[in-house]
Amino acid sequence: MIDFNVPPYVGNELTYIRQAIENRKICGDGEFTKRCSAWLTKRFGCDHALLTTSGTTALEMAARLCDLQPGDEVIMPSFTFSSTANAFVQVGARIVFVDIRPDTMNIDEKKIEHAITDRTRAIVVVHYAGVACAMDEIMEIARRHGLKVVEDAAHAPLATYKGRALGSIGDFGCLSFHETKNYSMGEGGALLINRGTHETEAQETASFEKAEIMREKGTDRSKFMRGQVDKYTWVDYGSSYLPSDMLAAYLWAQLEKADEINKDRIATWNAYYEGLKPLADAGRIELQTVPEGCVHNAHMFWIKCADLQERTELLSYLRDRQIYAVFHYIPLHSAPAGLRFGRFDGEDEYTTRESERLARLPLYYHLTAEDRAQVIQAIKDFYEARAC
Ligand SMILES: *Cc1c(COP(=O)(O)O)cnc(C)c1O
Repeated sequence: MIDFNVPPYVGNELTYIRQAIENRKICGDGEFTKRCSAWLTKRFGCDHALLTTSGTTALEMAARLCDLQPGDEVIMPSFTFSSTANAFVQVGARIVFVDIRPDTMNIDEKKIEHAITDRTRAIVVVHYAGVACAMDEIMEIARRHGLKVVEDAAHAPLATYKGRALGSIGDFGCLSFHETKNYSMGEGGALLINRGTHETEAQETASFEKAEIMREKGTDRSKFMRGQVDKYTWVDYGSSYLPSDMLAAYLWAQLEKADEINKDRIATWNAYYEGLKPLADAGRIELQTVPEGCVHNAHMFWIKCADLQERTELLSYLRDRQIYAVFHYIPLHSAPAGLRFGRFDGEDEYTTRESERLARLPLYYHLTAEDRAQVIQAIKDFYEARAC
């Protein structure tokens, strides 16, 4: 059997969790949390990184930091996970969905401006499969219209755009360390705070301080722990967005081996690409494209079938051979909550059609070469047996 995903495990996780317990620090912001945030800051080249309880809560914090009023509009793709939209719905925003590009499945930067109204306050981008959105164009639009930019970089750790880490370009970057992501702590995430469209460094620092308070139940406990204030108190809206140091210990083991995990995933991605290229050259399937200037992180390997019916047949053919390939997001704009909380701007040229054709192949740390070969062979057999 070849699973779609197996959570990454590199070997030191238990040792570090035991250390966290022996440190008598099983709540948040202990030694391992500090190590992880320092690593993220350095590796992403961002100014601030805060571990959170999930990618979802990182997005919720980012949405609050955008300071929206009820009825304000936020632009995002419809081809994404519910959390991307929920975070903004929670603060009263209307979601305006924009079509995607078929080559990357990312928001089409050329269609963003059409969706901007006098209520628009933010653009949320999703770097699908760890392949970057056109960030230069998007940041330029945001600056021209005075909009915030949030990067949903849940898929994207270690992927770059023109040399810059994804998640470090917009005002806020949101990472996920769910077990299905490249690096994991079971459930967890991080909020990155960047200069982005913040006009001054002081404004950026203010966002960071607000985020710290929000994460600490609305108190200035973080400042107190650093000795910057002599008592801590309730100063603003907040919640508990702080993960346990035991979970950070699991993540630390992964981050220490981040390059090894990345290399292993890239090897699988490349093997799939080479193995399936003949089918793509023959026009039977389409493969992922990675635009110039983007370095991906092998978060995902997707192919596109001719249509929904062919994809359904392929997935079931693979399942019969105990290979668990899967489809992905049902576009949010056509989902019950999407209809209630949002609208689609312009024409849905690609979102629905392309999402119906997309299939994701098994990809995880330590997927063996034999398993890869088996997946490739099964897909070839499927198309061989099927008339053009
Ligand atoms: C996984 C994911 C999230 C949510 O992250 P969690 O850690 O599961 O809450 C948000 N957006 C995208 C694009 C994701 O893939």
